[in-house]
Amino acid sequence: MLTRTSAFMKEANLIGGKWVAADSGDTLAVTNPATGAVLGTVPNAGQAEAARAIEAAATAFERFRKTTAAERAAMLRRMHDVMIENVDALAELLTLEQGKPLAEAKGEITVGANYILWFAEEGRRVYGDIVPSPWADRRILVRKEPVGVVGAITPWNFPSSMLARKIGPAIAAGCTAVIKPASQTPYSGLAWGVIAEMAGLPEGVMNIVTGSASQIGGEMTSNPAVKKITFTGSTDVGKILLRQCADTVKKVSMELGGNAPFLVFDSADVDKAVEGAVAAKYRNSGQTCVCTNRFYVQAGVYDEFAEKLARKSESLKVGPGTEEGTQQGPLIDMAAVEKVEELIADAVSKGGKVLTGGNRHELGQSFFQPTVIANATAEMRFSREEIFGPVSPIFRFETEEEAIALANDTEYGLACYFYTRDLGQAFRVMEGLDYGLVGVNEGVITTPEAPFGGHKESGLGSEGGREGILEYLDTKYVCIGGL
Ligand code: ADP
Repeated sequence: MLTRTSAFMKEANLIGGKWVAADSGDTLAVTNPATGAVLGTVPNAGQAEAARAIEAAATAFERFRKTTAAERAAMLRRMHDVMIENVDALAELLTLEQGKPLAEAKGEITVGANYILWFAEEGRRVYGDIVPSPWADRRILVRKEPVGVVGAITPWNFPSSMLARKIGPAIAAGCTAVIKPASQTPYSGLAWGVIAEMAGLPEGVMNIVTGSASQIGGEMTSNPAVKKITFTGSTDVGKILLRQCADTVKKVSMELGGNAPFLVFDSADVDKAVEGAVAAKYRNSGQTCVCTNRFYVQAGVYDEFAEKLARKSESLKVGPGTEEGTQQGPLIDMAAVEKVEELIADAVSKGGKVLTGGNRHELGQSFFQPTVIANATAEMRFSREEIFGPVSPIFRFETEEEAIALANDTEYGLACYFYTRDLGQAFRVMEGLDYGLVGVNEGVITTPEAPFGGHKESGLGSEGGREGILEYLDTKYVCIGGL
């Protein structure tokens, strides 16, 4: 078991290469959601510490921007190697503060390392252009340059890999960063500082500040030295940050909320659909922005799908993430449990039928039973609100057109999934769905090679893929005349 002396568990902030306490000496306690036990504390920092971190990043940027892409790629590759060599320690830390099963935590660390490696490679391919000139005596050059200091704010559900998708492209592009991890899971964020040190990243390139979200976020969004804000979290907070960024016209990337539909057509392989449904719903106990929020099942296979999903759901092993074989850890906190209970009560009061689950788990704390609710309707709150818990509401539909319309009837547009064996239907539905990520006969599709980003109020910009690094680069057109 990990101890406080573990190399990756830091109880201090990283500013300009120094591990420091909050100016006030105040701390925040970090708890293990599986037991309620306090794991340790982190600094409760605010505006002043954030301002110093930004200054350190701005100073470091002047030198870092002059490093070569190959040098930065080598640093990132070393960060990847440190993560892979220490996957067990990093995963254990993640599970202790976040709750997810160890196997999922190892998966998260590995995926994060893979994002870092992907951007190490992409950073060497940041090409400019020489464009044919309309003038005989002038030449047109187009360069890509790092935007500068980046502010990154991340959530608790993927406290490690959400940072990989931001730090990787930032460093590859030649930017420096100030990071604010979520207060529920700060250790996995602070661990990035240790990874950076072990990989030999220059001081000040990565700075990490924990504490008051509004103070740190307020400084990041108002300080003119910060050129870009990258955020993953709720749509409500994303909108606040967008407003705050307006005054200094910062670049922004926003990965916000979702309301993922999962469509099962009569033409589907129902067993495969159930398998995909379990993966798309119950990963991280339903606490991801791409987790299915609404199952829409065509009338011909409705009963079969509902029954099979209920049986699979109740067979999931619920327990502490550190226990071998656990498939469902606790929810992040009691507020999450109360929200899930409210949504279930609302559905039941409007005619929803609980096929399995529906209650807190006998393990206590924030453990909750995987739950399936049939006869879901548009009047129930979870048709509009993100559940962020292990609840599967199943709605019924009759026609393909109806299914597409229902799936799109939301202000969100992040992930969606559908199952069909009809090729024409696969294309029609894929083209009809207004979502940034579409899984056709697949329930888990995220990978560093592909762009990840939402339509509508689910976000702005993409992380990963060829697009991911462009978010950290400015375009400069240079006209060379008098030739
Ligand atoms: P979640 O529902 O996943 O907790 P939030 O959007 O509340 O999503 O939190 C995501 C991240 O945004 C966290 O690091 C949180 O501390 C931070 N955050 C919350 N409120 C603000 C704010 N007003 N300004 C800046 N960051 C914020």
